[in-house]
Amino acid sequence: MTICIGIALSLTACSANSGSTSGTATAGKAANDAQASARAACDTGTPIAAGKRLRIGSTVAPITSIVANVAGDHADIAGLVPEGTNSHTFEPAPSVAAALAKTDVLFANGLKLEEPTKDLAAKNLPNGAVLCELGTAILPVADYIYDFSFPIEGGKPNPHLWTNPPMAKKYAEIIRDVLVRMDPTNAGAYRNNAAAYIARIDGLDAAMATATATVPANQRKLLTYHDAYAYFARHYGWTVIGAIQPSNFDEPTAKEVADLITQVRKTGVPAIFGSEVFPSPVLKQIGAETGVKYVDVLRDDDLPGKPGEPGHSFLGLMQFDYITMVDSLGGDASALKATDISDVNVDTAVYPQ
Ligand SMILES: [Zn+2]
Repeated sequence: MTICIGIALSLTACSANSGSTSGTATAGKAANDAQASARAACDTGTPIAAGKRLRIGSTVAPITSIVANVAGDHADIAGLVPEGTNSHTFEPAPSVAAALAKTDVLFANGLKLEEPTKDLAAKNLPNGAVLCELGTAILPVADYIYDFSFPIEGGKPNPHLWTNPPMAKKYAEIIRDVLVRMDPTNAGAYRNNAAAYIARIDGLDAAMATATATVPANQRKLLTYHDAYAYFARHYGWTVIGAIQPSNFDEPTAKEVADLITQVRKTGVPAIFGSEVFPSPVLKQIGAETGVKYVDVLRDDDLPGKPGEPGHSFLGLMQFDYITMVDSLGGDASALKATDISDVNVDTAVYPQ
């Protein structure tokens, strides 16, 4: 296990595996092929017969929401990872095998987020089905980020691409292409849905850029518990100064907490951010001892509200996180509040709770 927290704050120890390590000298050709082979896998599969209804599985809720918007009412969609669970350690029950056996397309994030689900899928998806790992398919290996909770020696890159709108847009484009190919009868609807949805993602992206400009430059810093905003930060020019959750998802030690308290004081950030899915007494303690505002509501893959409610969506999730960050760090979130985050289709996907 590696714990390397708050390292970027001190800029001294542990530099080998802290911060955003983009790419690696050791990635090699095989790893560089990971994107190409994942993209090619999304293009496999046998189209369903005309008159049949496409059956789609998805892993984490943000991906399920994007799929639901692109598919509209032309497919049955079921998420596999319950909301509010630790998606990084989630293991599907053996009973999920039966659902996978009736699935034409399974969308996963990849980047080693859902290996147990992938293993079960490999054994149970029917012949002709597609397993499409969206993150692995869109991200060149040279752009992988290994950082605080995802150190390079752990072998798992930070998988949270969807917190960065341009990457979520690429997810939507691949989802569109897979649905068009697997269910050509409804190709026109999938293309129209995707175009409308991508316009929403672009709108959110533009609003976040506007809001970023209102946050004082020296406060565009995130100290979070869950390490979910690496690609977001790179896109908007923010800095993730630390993520506290160790790579084994335990709590940090007392010594590490004491170091963090010192570092938070030095940095002078106005707020630190906990996760709604991973309540952390430690981060609360750091907030109390430093006098820094502790905001404990960020979410990475647990959509706001309940299925069927407005805002229970990928766009609602990101809007909520961005507003929370901008408000807490002294910016003006009005552009984000004015953004249209409504779904372009009624979301009838099944979200396990
Ligand atoms: Zn996560």
